[in-house]
Amino acid sequence: MVGAIQSQAARGTSFGAPTEAETELAELLVEHVPGLQMVRLVNSGTEAAMSAVRLARAATGRDVVVKFEGGYHGHADHLLASAGSGVATLGVPGSPGVPEVFTALTAVLPYNAPDVAAEFFAERGGEVAAVLVEPVAGNMGVVPGTPEFLGELRRLTTESGTLLIFDEVITGFRLGLAGAAGTYGITADLTLLGKIIGGGLPLAAYGGRADLMRQMAPEGPVYQAGTLSGNPLATAAGLATLHTLAADPPYQRLDAGAAAIEAAIVAAAASAGVPVQVGRAGSMLTPFMSATVVKDYSEARGCDSTMYAALFHRLLDSGVYVPPSQFESWFVSEPLASTHVDELCSRLDVAIRGQ
Ligand SMILES: *Cc1c(COP(=O)(O)O)cnc(C)c1O
Repeated sequence: MVGAIQSQAARGTSFGAPTEAETELAELLVEHVPGLQMVRLVNSGTEAAMSAVRLARAATGRDVVVKFEGGYHGHADHLLASAGSGVATLGVPGSPGVPEVFTALTAVLPYNAPDVAAEFFAERGGEVAAVLVEPVAGNMGVVPGTPEFLGELRRLTTESGTLLIFDEVITGFRLGLAGAAGTYGITADLTLLGKIIGGGLPLAAYGGRADLMRQMAPEGPVYQAGTLSGNPLATAAGLATLHTLAADPPYQRLDAGAAAIEAAIVAAAASAGVPVQVGRAGSMLTPFMSATVVKDYSEARGCDSTMYAALFHRLLDSGVYVPPSQFESWFVSEPLASTHVDELCSRLDVAIRGQ
């Protein structure tokens, strides 16, 4: 991949027109991601979320957007209501600098509560342009959406003419080539991608049903553009990454590594009498310092963050750097899965027993 970036750098880093690599990358995304008929490249997950919401509002003629507590969709003002990630770590409800009127059209519902979503839709479904959801929440710690919850969202949105937007910025090409949509067998109307698809360079994408995407300018009236979108360096890195993943999908190895780490945490916690619940989907996991399973944001916030911080520091002292926040995901990588899992498990064991 470094070679791909170097050779593209020698040929030019930015042009005032789309490049072939941009089209190739788009074709690869369309090939693998369920429901992706047309796709547009942007520079960040934040931009992908902003653009998809704008499109949803234009396509439906409605203004309200539903998101879930602890769900993170980048830092667009109107999506910073009850957001996860760094916002959760800081413990602020939104962010200073975001006027309340900016989030007034954002309805926030509890995650994994299909009944609450059904009640909300019974009353206000006709006002809702889009439901924006991380199928596996990764920004309140890892909390997989239940099939019942995601299935109900698909049913409610279809019934009320609302668009379902899957935020797969983390799960895309992480849970598998087909992302969370493939894992759950549920297809959204629009999908957000980012992170992995840029191979470490600034690149993200949004896409979905062709009849919707055709409403974006210049074909349609909904404006969205970006000077550096589909940038040649980023597309070179993204293409190299996706080709590598497709040629030899690493998911079984990654998931096995994560499963081994989960088992080590559970075993150490059980024998040391430490309350830990592991939230895991594929190669994403979070040890929650909690005696009961964590299903939503309020349960995640109920965990013992002080105890997590102590675990973090004990691990750091033993040479292991995990996310410093209780509300972030641990990710298993290829090098970790292939060579370091056993060593990591034994250091986790020592650190948890020291709790
Ligand atoms: C990281 C993230 C984003 C925002 O992406 P940026 O590239 O940081 O703007 C959006 N949604 C989810 C689920 C994310 O994890």
